[in-house]
Amino acid sequence: MISEKMVGLVQNSSIIRAMFEEGKKMADIYGEENVFDFSIGNPSVEPPVEVKEAIIDIITNESPNLVHGYMNNSGYEDVRDVVAKHINKTQGTAFATENIVMTVGAAGGLNVIFKALLNKGDEVMVFAPYFGEYRSYVNNYDGVLVEISPNTVDFQPNLDEFKEKITAKTKAVIVNTPNNPTGVVYSEETICKLAMILEDKQKEFGTSIYLISDEPYRELVYDGIEVPYLTKYYKNTVVGYSYSKSLSLPGERIGYLVLPKEMDDFANIVAAVNVANRILGYVNAPSLMQRVIARCVDAKVDVESYNRNREVLYNKLMEFGYDCIKPQGTFYLFVKAFGGDDIAFANAAKKYNILIVPGTSFGCPGYCRIAYCVDHSKVVGALDGFEKLAKEYQ
Ligand code: PLP
Repeated sequence: MISEKMVGLVQNSSIIRAMFEEGKKMADIYGEENVFDFSIGNPSVEPPVEVKEAIIDIITNESPNLVHGYMNNSGYEDVRDVVAKHINKTQGTAFATENIVMTVGAAGGLNVIFKALLNKGDEVMVFAPYFGEYRSYVNNYDGVLVEISPNTVDFQPNLDEFKEKITAKTKAVIVNTPNNPTGVVYSEETICKLAMILEDKQKEFGTSIYLISDEPYRELVYDGIEVPYLTKYYKNTVVGYSYSKSLSLPGERIGYLVLPKEMDDFANIVAAVNVANRILGYVNAPSLMQRVIARCVDAKVDVESYNRNREVLYNKLMEFGYDCIKPQGTFYLFVKAFGGDDIAFANAAKKYNILIVPGTSFGCPGYCRIAYCVDHSKVVGALDGFEKLAKEYQ
């Protein structure tokens, strides 16, 4: 018998993963070229060539004991140092080795920080729409997820409701910008207001509320938009970064946490995160990938390929009468479901071999997410289906 907790988790297992499997089945039936799978955020752009060259050179020329051995649970010191310097160079911050912990992707980083912070019943706030896996990450440590309802005007966080829902039990707030699933970048004005609310509430309740900035999409932005670096606005900020999307390495499981020394209880949190990395069974972030990051910290994927998909998809959907907000970052587009029922709408899209994810899985019914991290020919190939789908409702 599996545990009671897992029964529910298995039943509600990710709809995105299920659609990904469905896409593969549809490809067997209709031919891969006739299926337009926009369900999963698996990068379509190849990793930068420097990454491949680094892997080959590292395994050929670096000491096997260094490349494949155990290390400090927070990661190789030299890698953490390179990462800290890179953030300082790009964001104008002042981090050092001690502020960086290498993690098993963003998912590993979030689990580690929640393991470090949460007591049973502690509340973690999220702004809908949000990455649905947060539910499980918080539940893993018996935290309670508190949802803030979406602001469907511009998909910036709903700060009035946020202010009302903060309690003495609020331990953390997750912010994800650029956002999955909307592609929206939270403005500096939003971040300043959010930080002020948190400062006030910390004083009111005499607590520490940690802002967890989950930012796997930081580098995937368009039109030169700036993404504010949250540690500059609020001292109790933890940044969770990942190379899954920024270097197209999701299967390699590499990322890091940034823990600023100004944050409340810094030394204890650093110690707890280090131990959490070990006892959750990660032990440390993958060693070969850490060595790759040391060499490829400045490498970039070809964001222009995603931009090309974004432009075509957004312009054509608007022309067909869809209601959507132009993504400022990520490779997702969030579109209003014709008829209002996102699940029915995503099912209707399947008639045209188009797979999109209902917004319900992101806490935002009535919308669907289109992941345009696909070959450009797929975007072009799906347009006819998107047009016919719209006409069904018009
Ligand atoms: N956070 C968000 C918002 C994501 O979209 C994803 C993956 O899609 C993750 C975290 C997990 O990323 P990683 O592969 O780095 O664990």
